Amino acid sequence: MPATRTKAKNKSAPKKSARKLNQPRKTFRSPLAPERVAAILKALDEAYPHAVTALHHHTPWELLVATILSAQCTDARVNMVTPELFRRFPTPAAMARASLPEIEEIIRSTGFFRNKAKSIRGAAQTIIADFGSQVPQTMAELLTIPGVARKTANVVLGASFHKAEGIVVDTHVFRIAHRLELAKGNTPGKVEQELMRELPRDHWIRFSNEVIQHGRKVCLARKPKCIECTLEPLCRSKDKTWSS
Ligand code: SF4
Repeated sequence: MPATRTKAKNKSAPKKSARKLNQPRKTFRSPLAPERVAAILKALDEAYPHAVTALHHHTPWELLVATILSAQCTDARVNMVTPELFRRFPTPAAMARASLPEIEEIIRSTGFFRNKAKSIRGAAQTIIADFGSQVPQTMAELLTIPGVARKTANVVLGASFHKAEGIVVDTHVFRIAHRLELAKGNTPGKVEQELMRELPRDHWIRFSNEVIQHGRKVCLARKPKCIECTLEPLCRSKDKTWSS
């Protein structure tokens, strides 16, 4: 009897299932089928409608510095050191005059602090010398700044200037782009190029912010919480811990 079958299924199903079990699972002709990509983007928009960078900042300069510090470090740790760093050295001019040991002492807990201190002071000096003390607003110019690679440039362009010249690919975006079969590349640069080909440009900035949230809250590196994931019906990752 249908009613009995439904009851039996629901009893054995996990309580937090993201998908109603009587919904048909959609199949797509390929992982990159436009309708599948659109469904993933829609699910991310719905799950993380207010996703923004977690790095605390007030100016493009502060965001640039915070992003340099975030390499191999959590955003929470960066947010613990930047208030003191920006209190002592609030502008590129102040940072350019700082001694390396002064900077190192403040940022030590973020790891790789000697290299990061050099990058931050070098960035300040370049911004003063080449860009009139203003953080530039193009990818080509940002990439001339010490310590700035595409990821940092994309973060600053997106969050501070609302410019989509590329897509931020951090560890979460790299992992989840693979799990969702949106990319196959073995480097962040290759994954970024694939995503730029596949995703509509008006999603480039928010896609990364949303996926980073997803990676922190649900699609964890070691044990993804697939049972709570609203993208689960679209995901065929071998890392899945639960499947409807
Ligand atoms: S179903 Fe699991 S592996 Fe796939 S995106 Fe969701 S949390 Fe990640």
